[in-house]
Amino acid sequence: MSETPAESGSLADRISKPTGPNPTADAFQPKSGTSWADEVASPATETPPKVSETSEDIPQVDGATGPFGGSSLHEPDYQVEVKLADMQADPNNPLFSATSFEQLGLSEDILKGVMSMNFRKPSKVQEKTLPLLLLNPPHNLIGQSQSGTGKTAAFVLNILARLDLSSEQMQKTPQALVLAPSRELARQIVGVVKVMGAFVQGLITEAAIPQDAASRGKKLEASVVVGTPGTVQDMIKKRLMDSRSVRILVLDEADNMLDQQGLGDQCVRVKALLPKNIQTVLFSATFPDNVVKYANQFAPGANQMTLRHEDLTVEGIKQIYLDCDNDQAKYDILVKFYGLMTIGSSIIFVKTRETALAIEQRMTAEGHKVVSLTGGYEGAQRDVIIDAFRMGQAKVLITTNVLARGIDVQSVSMVVNYDVPDKFVGKGKFVADPQTYLHRIGRTGRFGRVGVAVTFVSSRGDWEKLMEIQKYFATEIIQVTTDDWDELEDQVTKIIKSSRAGANFQDGARMGGT
Ligand code: ADP
Ligand code: MG
Repeated sequence: MSETPAESGSLADRISKPTGPNPTADAFQPKSGTSWADEVASPATETPPKVSETSEDIPQVDGATGPFGGSSLHEPDYQVEVKLADMQADPNNPLFSATSFEQLGLSEDILKGVMSMNFRKPSKVQEKTLPLLLLNPPHNLIGQSQSGTGKTAAFVLNILARLDLSSEQMQKTPQALVLAPSRELARQIVGVVKVMGAFVQGLITEAAIPQDAASRGKKLEASVVVGTPGTVQDMIKKRLMDSRSVRILVLDEADNMLDQQGLGDQCVRVKALLPKNIQTVLFSATFPDNVVKYANQFAPGANQMTLRHEDLTVEGIKQIYLDCDNDQAKYDILVKFYGLMTIGSSIIFVKTRETALAIEQRMTAEGHKVVSLTGGYEGAQRDVIIDAFRMGQAKVLITTNVLARGIDVQSVSMVVNYDVPDKFVGKGKFVADPQTYLHRIGRTGRFGRVGVAVTFVSSRGDWEKLMEIQKYFATEIIQVTTDDWDELEDQVTKIIKSSRAGANFQDGARMGGT
């Protein structure tokens, strides 16, 4: 492995100390050319490992932010609160609900946790799915709703409500298992369970993700386990996780998890290691036609909350694209954008690890503070980088599809698609990947916030793919010219500032039992 020293002066530099490769990291490495949420694999020319010298100083913050903490909104908090209240009162908005958390039949301890997160009212997906999830005997559920509308709380509240924590033995025995496609998302969900369950006596929550040598081989003693499928499978097989008492299985980003060209096999294998007839819960913003069949097999007889793909885009996310002459032009525009990207926080999505590394090195050399996170890094390094980004210590994160899904950092006000998201369909052919596009842009505009999604187009092929994506979601991706930089800057700033007022979601939720 050839190692390239990090440029000095960057946060990347401050987080640099090699810890060596993690042999178990392979457990969830993507297969090259697959369509699950990860990058195109790259050869062994990876960046130097990065680990914080001060990692102890960085608190665990995954999923534990307040409702508007660190938000990029250019408005005083009280205005934001008022607008959220308006949104939650509008039946056409995915954040709408007619009920309160108190009416959902949750225990006092759980409600205390919800209140500690400053959730005022449930969102639509929470209001609609919780009564179905909490039914006895338990029913399976397939739930779909737009990005950033609170799917996590829906499945976490069901889990908390169903745990038996009456003895120490039970507290240490896994009763609910959540599978997610990346270690970052698994850690984030652990954070949410811990905060939401902070008042639930005896609750123990652990992540089952590739571990460093020190904690490897240790038995998982937890009531709730959140992990990546490869590691979970491994731990059950090695008897490091007792799966006999699991009664709830949740797949977050379920379409991704069931994709037969990606993680599908692994999830099916994990399920086969669990007791029969457990409650199976699938959540995602997207359920493309080709995985619906697998979803129905995986969660038979499920109650369903589904959306049409025309109803999936979030109005608070303004989508624009920029015509760039070529790759160099893309880079120049990115650098010019840098100031705008640091207004809040932003994420730059690229296709390959090599591009991520190349952009990081060039921008760092030019004195910009950026960090990158790809599947090429070892687990502990990834934790340090994502935590630094969550804390706002790094404002610009360059990444691949590994972070396209589920990551909830409320301060993200801009997403840049440096490369148009596409997927490999064999014979050297790539086609538009609307699902990945939607998930990537959904890293901004969380729970009623505003954000800008900028896609760089540098060839006819790029443009055609983007137009296909636009058509798929029946949305509008506005072309913005790069001729006049001041004008562009102005437009983007205006979009960030204005679109919240106009935030107005489409209503597409349809409920149906089976
Ligand atoms: P999704 O999984 O649907 O994309 P998340 O579950 O990550 O969305 O939630 C997005 C954000 O919304 C999180 O920061 C979460 O804390 C916040 N949130 C969820 N439910 C509520 C609620 N009822 N009131 C206020 N904020 C909420
Ligand atoms: Mg989610």
